[in-house]
Amino acid sequence: MIRVAPAIARYREAAQDGRPDGPHGETMDERLIERLQAIAPTKRGEPLSRHTTFGIGGPADVFVTVRDARELLQAVVAARHAGAPWFVLGAGSNILVGDGGIRGVVIDNQATAVDGPHDREGALIVTAESGTPFATLARAMAKQGYGGIEWAAGIPGTLGGAVVYNAGAYDGCLADVLRAVTIVDLDDRQRRLPAAELELAYRSSVFTRGAFAGRVVLTVELAVERGDRKALTATVAAYDRQRLDAQPRGRNSGSTFKNPPGRQAWELIDAVGLRGERRGDAQFSEKHCNFIANLGKARAADVAALMREAQRRVRERFGIELEPEVALVGEGF
Ligand SMILES: Cc1cc2nc3c(=O)[nH]c(=O)nc-3n(C[C@H](O)[C@H](O)[C@H](O)COP(=O)(O)OP(=O)(O)OC[C@H]3O[C@@H](n4cnc5c(N)ncnc54)[C@H](O)[C@@H]3O)c2cc1C
Repeated sequence: MIRVAPAIARYREAAQDGRPDGPHGETMDERLIERLQAIAPTKRGEPLSRHTTFGIGGPADVFVTVRDARELLQAVVAARHAGAPWFVLGAGSNILVGDGGIRGVVIDNQATAVDGPHDREGALIVTAESGTPFATLARAMAKQGYGGIEWAAGIPGTLGGAVVYNAGAYDGCLADVLRAVTIVDLDDRQRRLPAAELELAYRSSVFTRGAFAGRVVLTVELAVERGDRKALTATVAAYDRQRLDAQPRGRNSGSTFKNPPGRQAWELIDAVGLRGERRGDAQFSEKHCNFIANLGKARAADVAALMREAQRRVRERFGIELEPEVALVGEGF
């Protein structure tokens, strides 16, 4: 589970008592919002249900939409300097945001510039900003006759989220093609890191293990290879068909739990009788029971209750601890 930074208590105290402590009588909150507005479009109280594939999630105190990697860096630095907690939101396709929302600043990453591929050090490298949707990049590359990432054509997240989870499908994963990233480091500087330093493993990285807390991925460098345009687009179409056959449509967050070693999470959930099980408008999908569907007005609390129920039953019956793939963030569970 990923939790919002511990600066929350201090931030709340300063924001809620509304003490005018700035030189012109403004509060910390107002100064931060002014600073963010100078960087990129900023709103208060934006419902996060509009920004997650689940369609679930309460409001963000402050919501800033950054449009390139420079704005992303500036927004992180502004929130950090104000002592406010902050959270970088990609496509919201692997998170369950609590019904109470997220305190502090949510940085909506719409940085999507792509450069390349270019020949570099004997490889073809495409560099993309971290808000680029992985699927869009994979499809564009296939259409241009570049392969190596066609397996990602159905992954709805951004490249930043893909780094965090080492996103993968159909025997491919980001670790196979990732050369390097640039990040915002804890000293507010931009640093380039080779992929090896991210310790990518099955749906995990230094980010999910907490070792990179407070850092943000700005850009991603991937190695692609020349291929046959027609063959690549045909492979993408075949993957699309497989997904349509296997996965439910509608609002969900993909796989709820990671597959335990040697087992499939969906088989375990099925075996303990939870296929189709409902809490409110949240339901373990009939079609693929490692997916939880939002049938309409599901609350995060309903989804979390289903998750706990699956964990309890699978633990009791098989002695296996199901590990969530979806990250629970914010308040109100
Ligand atoms: C229908 C469906 C199918 C899916 N299929 C697959 C699949 O086949 N394979 C697979 O691996 N996943 C799959 N997923 C899950 C999801 O798409 C991936 O995990 C994706 O990589 C998440 O990216 P995101 O941008 O949505 O991240 P978000 O959900 O927005 O964020 C997830 C976490 O990453 C952090 N984060 C996001 N961007 C950055 C950044 N720039 N720097 C630092 N941290 C960041 C966030 O703060 C958060 O903690 C699927 C999801 C859905 C809904």
